Amino acid sequence: MDKIPSLIPTLVFIGKMNSGKSSLINALTNQDISIVSNIPGTTTDEVVKRFELLDVGPINIIDTAGLNDESDLGILRVNKTKKAIKRASLLVYVIDSSNEIDLSEYDKLSDEKILVFNKIDLLSNEELDRLKNKYPLALFLSIKDNQSIISFKKKLTKLLQEQDSLLLSNINLKFNKIVHVIPIDSEAPKGRIILPQMQLIRECLDTDLISIVLKESELEDYLATNNDIGLIVTDSQAFKIVSKINNHRFCLTSYSILQANQKGDLNYFIKSINKLKTLTNNAHILLMESCSHNASHEDIGRVKIPRILNNIIGDNYTFDFKMSHDFPDNLATYDYIIHCGSCMLSAKIMDKRIKQAKELNIPMTNYGLIFAYNSGILEEATQMFKKV
Ligand code: SF4
Repeated sequence: MDKIPSLIPTLVFIGKMNSGKSSLINALTNQDISIVSNIPGTTTDEVVKRFELLDVGPINIIDTAGLNDESDLGILRVNKTKKAIKRASLLVYVIDSSNEIDLSEYDKLSDEKILVFNKIDLLSNEELDRLKNKYPLALFLSIKDNQSIISFKKKLTKLLQEQDSLLLSNINLKFNKIVHVIPIDSEAPKGRIILPQMQLIRECLDTDLISIVLKESELEDYLATNNDIGLIVTDSQAFKIVSKINNHRFCLTSYSILQANQKGDLNYFIKSINKLKTLTNNAHILLMESCSHNASHEDIGRVKIPRILNNIIGDNYTFDFKMSHDFPDNLATYDYIIHCGSCMLSAKIMDKRIKQAKELNIPMTNYGLIFAYNSGILEEATQMFKKV
């Protein structure tokens, strides 16, 4: 369960027991993913599967036990369903249209959701028309009608595509050349480059931007003979040296600042940076990374960020280091949140985390902005976003 890469959109099917969620998933995916029977509560634990949706790519599907499980294990299962909801890119709320319509649970869900009336083959034409008139935005399906399943797929595709955004969205580039600065140091994984770097290179290919990939030691020579650079993007840890070499000639930022632009709330993150110095003694800080990876002696979250914090606010603070899906339900004990760039997290999930922080007025920022601030180049590394 914890191994699902969250970058892949996650559809969470939810609804009362026996509303036909599992059969609907099986019809959607054309596979027997979920155990199906007409005994309420057959899906007693959530079932997670990967499925390829044309024009979107791989998606995760979570079939939940439902929110109305009153069996002995019910509370545990309902809690699991609530956890799954937190990870959803999109909630699919399934109703058995042949039963009494109760939308009280659906109405309580604040995440992006789609209402699906299932089993419409059990309704008369008049009953179906009445429902359609009453719920004009809902979908009306029967797993016995392949056409309605195709329409369902189209709707899901549209909604998931609308959630996609680009790392370079809202940035005006003067030239179509992007210089990627990728340090190959002891922290670099052997034989590959990390996901945010890959994502940006792929985005450049998709959007007809030219990528120049080099190490920081090669940058000076390259800049000496090139004047047509739209943007330099560096690993945050090389900010200082790259900024010095660039000397304000070209726009400069980092991968994690681009991620904040793509799926964070860059303005909130920048405002929060300015609140860092106002943290009082004994501040309690949450350091959050969206994936688990082997920690090295120079690990960013466990070693480098605390070192920077010592530099900025002194050492009179405590921090919790959390990974993967362990974003705390209750943030009230924290005074400040520092998140990784979240390359493996979907925009929807990042949105939810930021919303949680904002509701409690807790400043939140990310690694890249902390590095930029500590290197004295926060203004330089974020100025291109202000022109928008
Ligand atoms: S820690 Fe965060 S930014 Fe780094 S690789 Fe994992 S998800 Fe991406």
